[in-house]
Amino acid sequence: MRCDIESPLAQTVAGATAQAVLSACVHCGMCNATCPTYHLTGDELDGPRGRIYLIKQALEGEPVGRLTQNHLDRCLSCRACETTCPSGVEYHRLLDVGREVVAHQAPRPWSERLFRGAIRALCIEPWRLATLIALGRPFRFALPAILKGKLPPKVEIGSRPTRVHERRMSLLKGCVQSATAPHINAANQRVFDKVGVTLTETPGVGCCGALSFHLDAPDEGRALARRNIDAWIGELDAGAEAVIVNASGCAAFIRDYPDILAEDPVYAARARRVVENLRDPIEVLETTPPTPHRTPARPRIAVHQSCTLRNGPRLGDAPARLLASLGYDPQPVADAHLCCGSAGAYSLLQPTMAGKLRADKITALTAGAPQAIYTANIGCWMHLGEKSPVPVRHWIEAVDDLLDA
Ligand code: SF4
Ligand code: SF4
Repeated sequence: MRCDIESPLAQTVAGATAQAVLSACVHCGMCNATCPTYHLTGDELDGPRGRIYLIKQALEGEPVGRLTQNHLDRCLSCRACETTCPSGVEYHRLLDVGREVVAHQAPRPWSERLFRGAIRALCIEPWRLATLIALGRPFRFALPAILKGKLPPKVEIGSRPTRVHERRMSLLKGCVQSATAPHINAANQRVFDKVGVTLTETPGVGCCGALSFHLDAPDEGRALARRNIDAWIGELDAGAEAVIVNASGCAAFIRDYPDILAEDPVYAARARRVVENLRDPIEVLETTPPTPHRTPARPRIAVHQSCTLRNGPRLGDAPARLLASLGYDPQPVADAHLCCGSAGAYSLLQPTMAGKLRADKITALTAGAPQAIYTANIGCWMHLGEKSPVPVRHWIEAVDDLLDA
């Protein structure tokens, strides 16, 4: 697809990225087949091909307004479209450039700016969210249904390992996850301890920056990325083998650090080093399998393939494979490629679409009558957990359950 990107964007790395992505697109529309939002609305502009056209127009300097912004806002950034594109179009890289350009050309109403700013302020500092949750729990009974559903269940954290192994890795504590589900990191540390790896939460590392970047504060997102990169490079220099991120949504954004920092060659290079050493815990356990202390009686489970594990690193079925090898009985799940609607802050910003996607996902996940649903991402954990009739857990917890002494 030919595109005459306007100056000065055309002279930037972002402009060159957009040009390269657009040139690869032959507008065949095959990507629409796997797009969850196109699947829901049937509107060409709610599919990847339509959005590519909208972004192209914006980059060429045509006036854009709220209509364009709404169609881009409705995109989940799930990257399912990339899995069916025969031309290898890296849609998400174009989307990031397009959203930033459109945000400048079509300023949001103050109410939207306020809401987005509030989400950022609350989530990127975990103590704020943790305080709000702690204050809200005793009054759960009095909260309106919409807020009651958003209050995550309190789960016992359990013990943290005290042994120190020669093999050491750095764990992203996370922002939302450390406030809502700190037990997931503790389970991850226990499992890694059992396979001979010390997993430490690195001081100085915080929110990955995805929320800021995707909520109209890209420079704030870049600043958070730089802060994390500095801390992780220090850890890698000091002998850490890898950076472990067990929230696949955060990992997906960290993989994009070299892109979002492309105009800053020093940090882009540092970011590439971090990404080369970035691992989902499933990658470590595939090469260093845990030895369970007991075998479960093949409980029926459902494993949700988080888009950010499935469509970027293409590891979507790896957790189910591991759990099956440990004695669980993962049930087949229809339409595994369709997003559950969590997608960062999407469930807050696009509640209708997110609710429909979640209802369909829960129907698919519970079709095999599982005892629990397992996921790889904190966002899916929260979003599905709000409505699921069975417990929703991170898959690392299922491994942890089998490794108790
Ligand atoms: S499938 Fe790929 S080449 Fe075809 S329209 Fe979609 S993005 Fe473009
Ligand atoms: S990222 Fe997901 S929602 Fe967005 S266009 Fe691609 S498939 Fe559709």
